[in-house]
Amino acid sequence: MDLAKKFIGGKGLGAKILYDTLAPGIDPLSTENIILFMTGPMSGTTAQTAGRWAIVTKSPQTGIFLDSQIGGSFGVYMKRAGYDYILFRGKAEELSYLLVTSEGIEIRSASDLAGKGTFETEEILQERHAKTEVACIGPAGENLVAFSAIMTGRSHMAGRGGAGAVMGSKNLKAVVASGSNKIKAVHQEKFSELTKAFRQKVVEDAGVKHRHDIGTVMWVNISNEAGFLPTRNYQTGVFEEAEAISGETMKEKYVIGHKACFGCRIACGKVTKFTEGKYAGLEVEGPEYETSALIGSNCGITSLPAIAKASHMCDDLGIDTITSGATISFAMECSDKGILQQNDVDNLTFGNEDALHKMLELIAHRQGIGDLFAKGSLGASKELGQNSEEFAIQVKGLELAGVEPRGSWGMALAYSTSDRGACHQRCWTPGAELRGDLPRYSMEGVPKFVIDTQDERAVCGSLVLCDFVPFGVDEMVEMLNAATGFDYTSESYLKTGDRIWNLTRLFNAREGITANDDVLPKRFSKEEMPEGPAKGQIVTEETLNKAKAEYYDLRGWTAEGLPSEEKIKELGL
Ligand code: SF4
Repeated sequence: MDLAKKFIGGKGLGAKILYDTLAPGIDPLSTENIILFMTGPMSGTTAQTAGRWAIVTKSPQTGIFLDSQIGGSFGVYMKRAGYDYILFRGKAEELSYLLVTSEGIEIRSASDLAGKGTFETEEILQERHAKTEVACIGPAGENLVAFSAIMTGRSHMAGRGGAGAVMGSKNLKAVVASGSNKIKAVHQEKFSELTKAFRQKVVEDAGVKHRHDIGTVMWVNISNEAGFLPTRNYQTGVFEEAEAISGETMKEKYVIGHKACFGCRIACGKVTKFTEGKYAGLEVEGPEYETSALIGSNCGITSLPAIAKASHMCDDLGIDTITSGATISFAMECSDKGILQQNDVDNLTFGNEDALHKMLELIAHRQGIGDLFAKGSLGASKELGQNSEEFAIQVKGLELAGVEPRGSWGMALAYSTSDRGACHQRCWTPGAELRGDLPRYSMEGVPKFVIDTQDERAVCGSLVLCDFVPFGVDEMVEMLNAATGFDYTSESYLKTGDRIWNLTRLFNAREGITANDDVLPKRFSKEEMPEGPAKGQIVTEETLNKAKAEYYDLRGWTAEGLPSEEKIKELGL
């Protein structure tokens, strides 16, 4: 109970188990690595978005801490079977899946599923085991692609950092869960009251209405108008065809329904159908914003159906859409610059949707140049040389998400200090910058904002609730206390986030990470934004270093970016 109180569940408890279990320096794809399927204290309850769950492992893409939050219903089924978390280590002798029920667990052969996509895998397993949810990998995970994903419910993805490859390295094709246990809060009556009231708040929230109406892809037009929509491998922040791939266009022409994770009234997922042209007959969930930005504008793709097709392929092959888009756009720039010696894709250039789709297949199966780019943009740039690392758009090996840091300086610090490599889910500053809560093109107030958000998100990821719930800290604390019987205050809740953030930093420090790794790709400090509202902007090394120094100081870290002895003691680590 002491661990539960200090680290809660999901990300936090997973980080603690990971830190205590792994020896430093182990190969993430070796039998020594572990992968954790984590739930949280409210999983499967009536709390909004309580269907989410989390993966924690050491990332094969970055070699550092990884947690990946995922939607759907799988976490609920696992919890109903009676498990708060499942830890995998070692390696099965043959491709296998784990069956988890209220009666116990069983490891079964998955040799008949070898090479199958995630859609077919899920279908076969659900036919074989009625009333179950499945989490599985596709060919990319089996082939140890550095950014392979774990999928559930066809479209829910633990995408970032290559957790799918860790499953692949353990010969673990899938986990199938079902259970009938009731999940009760410690103070059930109070908990029911709260979750009922908060559900109403979700229904009435204006931001939620907009997110439900258009989906996360509403951000395409906003980002473009603000000048930070990643375009052609982050060469610019303005895409001339943004309207064609926007949420508004998607809604008008293609959306036929909404889709939600378990227990969520927001329902940000959009189901799209394409009835004409090359992709007639295609019906998919999405694409959502990050996919539209990275696979769309960042690869110069102007066709929304082509982006939806790519998104669908990523889901089935089991690869992260963000890194796929960023890595292929990097390959396109390499091809344009004549850096690629070998190229078995015709006309690998920005805007070519056929080349994009072909690259996804080659990467997932590690064929031809797909084998090189299956390592991600940093891995590929190390082999390609010729200064290509300067435009491999990643931090600590993980590619940036859908906001261009020259147009959003807050994201420059958020990306560079994020605990799993460049990530938008640890701290997201564009909203505050556009509202005027943070100044644009300045680092004033940014370090504190980034720290506060990172801490708060670290706890939310430990409760394993969605980024999109419109609840404040006080509301989260009330629900958590009713669910667990603990006595968090807002202060101790945020302190828990601080503890978790410091623990993941200590994990990364043990793997050799220091202030020298909290950096951005050179493109953002060397090349001015060429056009649009952010024209002329640049995040110099001096600007970032100054903000980092303030960030370390506020965190109680040394100038090298490491938690100080006092800080470690203060947090009970
Ligand atoms: S807001 Fe969207 S991602 Fe979050 S739980 Fe609801 S449906 Fe899932």
